[in-house]
Amino acid sequence: MAKTTVEREATRTAGGERPASGEAAASGEVREVKRTTCCVVGGGPGGAVLALLLARKGVDVTLLEAHPDFDREFRGDTLHPSVMEIMDQLGLAGRLLELRHSKASSFTLQTADGPFTPADFSRLKTKFPYITIMPQTSFLEFIVREAKKYPSFRLVMGARVRELVEEDGAVRGVRYEDEGGRHEVRAALTVGADGRGSRMRRLAGIEPIKTSPPMDVLWFKLPREPGDAEGLVGRFGRGHIAVMLDRDDHWQAGYVIPKGSFPELRHEGIGELRRQFAELIPEFSGRVEYLTDWRRVSLLSVESSRCPTWHRPGLLLIGDAAHVMSPVAGVGINYAVQDAVAAANILAKPLRESQERLVNLDERYLAAVQRRRELPTRIIQAVQAQVQRGVLAPALRSSEPFSPPLLLRLLPKIPVLRDLPGHLIGYGVWPSRVKYPA
Ligand SMILES: Cc1cc2nc3c(=O)[nH]c(=O)nc-3n(C[C@H](O)[C@H](O)[C@H](O)COP(=O)(O)OP(=O)(O)OC[C@H]3O[C@@H](n4cnc5c(N)ncnc54)[C@H](O)[C@@H]3O)c2cc1C
Repeated sequence: MAKTTVEREATRTAGGERPASGEAAASGEVREVKRTTCCVVGGGPGGAVLALLLARKGVDVTLLEAHPDFDREFRGDTLHPSVMEIMDQLGLAGRLLELRHSKASSFTLQTADGPFTPADFSRLKTKFPYITIMPQTSFLEFIVREAKKYPSFRLVMGARVRELVEEDGAVRGVRYEDEGGRHEVRAALTVGADGRGSRMRRLAGIEPIKTSPPMDVLWFKLPREPGDAEGLVGRFGRGHIAVMLDRDDHWQAGYVIPKGSFPELRHEGIGELRRQFAELIPEFSGRVEYLTDWRRVSLLSVESSRCPTWHRPGLLLIGDAAHVMSPVAGVGINYAVQDAVAAANILAKPLRESQERLVNLDERYLAAVQRRRELPTRIIQAVQAQVQRGVLAPALRSSEPFSPPLLLRLLPKIPVLRDLPGHLIGYGVWPSRVKYPA
């Protein structure tokens, strides 16, 4: 394959410090141009794991993360068995589990008919038959610490990507801003791993197909007290659902409300939220006083979407940027990490070739990543939609105490079916395995 303008530019500016694009040079705004083979935008679970996997295969990779650190708003702390197995394949599970975490070997809901366990992970045939609950910050810091051991890895924190660098109809990198000004990174491949509101997706003109699940979630913290349970707590009440995640020094509470009903609740006042929550989980009634005003509560407008295409020449979307998952069963991190593994399996070799011979990456490889991950995503989104329609929507509409539908109640009693939910949540469909294990 012939060298393109980009590669010639890249050769000229490799490690260089001056703008390569005519436009940027003319504007005089871009302070620095760097060359890499793969530029990953977004240091969430998907982007960070992809960067690590590529770096360990000798691919030059630059990870750009908008935040100055990994300590940010709660976005889920669950590492499913499939993610732990990936960590194990990389030889990292042992050290990861040395970090503070708790384990949930099942998910039990308190319902009108008593405790109900729709998903039990303890029977999964794995070294990790549980959900590992670990602050996402710890997980991301750990992954990035590992990636830094490879000389081909470069991390820029506080790098807010603003524009794509495009040439001849292909993406050739990005321009970002940080405290030092505007910079350009040129790459054979740019990966948008920048989450549910992906700017990369928008800049690439890729429009996701959205569905609107019937609920929104209010998230807030409540103090933990000695003697509290560990792991996950779920409660269904009259028209209300709560999920509580043990975050060691506090509980992260998710209060599920019917879609669009937040303005009305807000109008009724924070006292009404306190009252409803205390009614649902009476043992927390003494702690809801902590909710003194709405600033302590954040609204997650629940959505679910999937892009019809995950790529353009020179650009690939993974994780939430390609598909936002409904919070049902909390599989977003799991799927983002599995996308990263599939992408690294398919792309590491062609990217190394591209790096060595200074040629562009064939878009067919990007299409192969989408083919590998789209079906598992579609299937799990269909299951989530079914749970939303068949269980959550009726539960949120009802003024009666919640009782699980018959089929759901029978599931744990039928030996061939009882492990299905745990398996589906723990692994997803067609889970990714690291092609080049440690
Ligand atoms: C409140 C909440 C609770 C959740 N709970 C769970 C849960 O319990 N379990 C679960 O599995 N999933 C949960 N999720 C979903 C989960 O957080 C996502 O599915 C998962 O984080 C997706 O990973 P990602 O790497 O694709 O994107 P993200 O984790 O969203 O990471 C994207 C990264 O890109 C960065 N970025 C964005 N724009 C730019 C830019 N222009 N330039 C540079 N960087 C940029 C962001 O700062 C961010 O670090 C929850 C989500 C929310 C919002």
